[in-house]
Amino acid sequence: MKNLIRLSKSCLSNLELDYISKVLSDEYLGIGSYVFDFEKLLSTYFGRRVTCVSSGTAALQLALQASGCRPGDEVLVQSLTYVASFQAITAAGAVPVACEINPSNLSISIDDAKSRLTPRTKYIMPVHYAGNPGDLDTVYSFASDFNLRVVEDAAHAFGSTYNNSLVGSNGDITCFSFDGIKNITCGEGGCIVFNSEAEHNLANDLRLLGVHRDSEQRLHGRRSWDFDVYQQGWRYHMSNLNAAIGIAQFQRFDHFSSKRKSLAQRYKLNLKSTSGLSLLDSDYVSHVPHIFPVILSPKSDRSSLIEFLTASGIQTGIHYKPNHLLSFFKSHYSLPVTEQLFPHLLTLPLHPDLSFDDIDFVCASLISALNEH
Ligand SMILES: *Cc1c(COP(=O)(O)O)cnc(C)c1O
Repeated sequence: MKNLIRLSKSCLSNLELDYISKVLSDEYLGIGSYVFDFEKLLSTYFGRRVTCVSSGTAALQLALQASGCRPGDEVLVQSLTYVASFQAITAAGAVPVACEINPSNLSISIDDAKSRLTPRTKYIMPVHYAGNPGDLDTVYSFASDFNLRVVEDAAHAFGSTYNNSLVGSNGDITCFSFDGIKNITCGEGGCIVFNSEAEHNLANDLRLLGVHRDSEQRLHGRRSWDFDVYQQGWRYHMSNLNAAIGIAQFQRFDHFSSKRKSLAQRYKLNLKSTSGLSLLDSDYVSHVPHIFPVILSPKSDRSSLIEFLTASGIQTGIHYKPNHLLSFFKSHYSLPVTEQLFPHLLTLPLHPDLSFDDIDFVCASLISALNEH
């Protein structure tokens, strides 16, 4: 029996263990110096202001709230995304408006988004599916034409670039996730990258129950005991334990990034002329791939393929069930491109602890399964 090839996983080393041990021996687990150090590393990396929070979902919610999102504001977002994007929008009191995707890279379709504009449309949330930011210039020029704010869901795209600059180093607001399987992990965590200083300061308050300037006091090792609160806040700060993992992961990111890219390039090389499936559009040089989805041809039977691969010790996934088909987010209109594509999506294993041999085995198994099913 071969070892299980996991779809995704956390990749940990003694470095994470060392830093966690330091936090434990300090006996200071809350938001403290490790969180502020991690924020400093990230601020330097992006050249922007960064607020670390407890998850990527919390990052999206606070990005909306801190930028002045009002109840009933409409947010254009592709239906084909993790339910976190939609839940963050409703948690902020806003209304997600499900949009189509471009089939070549599964980024939001601006033509479709344009047809869904109303006087209440205030935001667009492009999702950098699989690590590919798509055509961000088109997103931003659309946003500026219609006076929309942009909150980028870059949960998949830590380390990816667009026009040779890092995703998060330009634009309006960018959110990342550091959950267990993302390009870097904190265990659980996320961050918001801001252009505006005022919005950054507000998010720093909102993550600590809205306590005015508590983040700033804590940065200097103090607390505000006599404080005020101006609006609804949340318990969404990052802990030192999670930040310690994040710092170690950030220091190892060059390795993760080049490993993810070379594994995806290997998939591309092995599968590019396989009939029965097509690949997404990416060079895997400018993008750090977070997942490796393929699009099966309509004549292959996805569930028997999954069964065959599972029996060979290969885990697969489906990213994602479209949100406009979920009871809570059901739309009154259909999205034919998304609905037609979704039944044929299949995600193959991708994480930095895989080898070229693993990728070759997955590809050989997939190809033989395609010939049978
Ligand atoms: C992971 C993810 C999120 C949310 O991040 P969490 O840290 O898990 O809350 C949001 N959007 C997308 C596309 C994701 O994959």
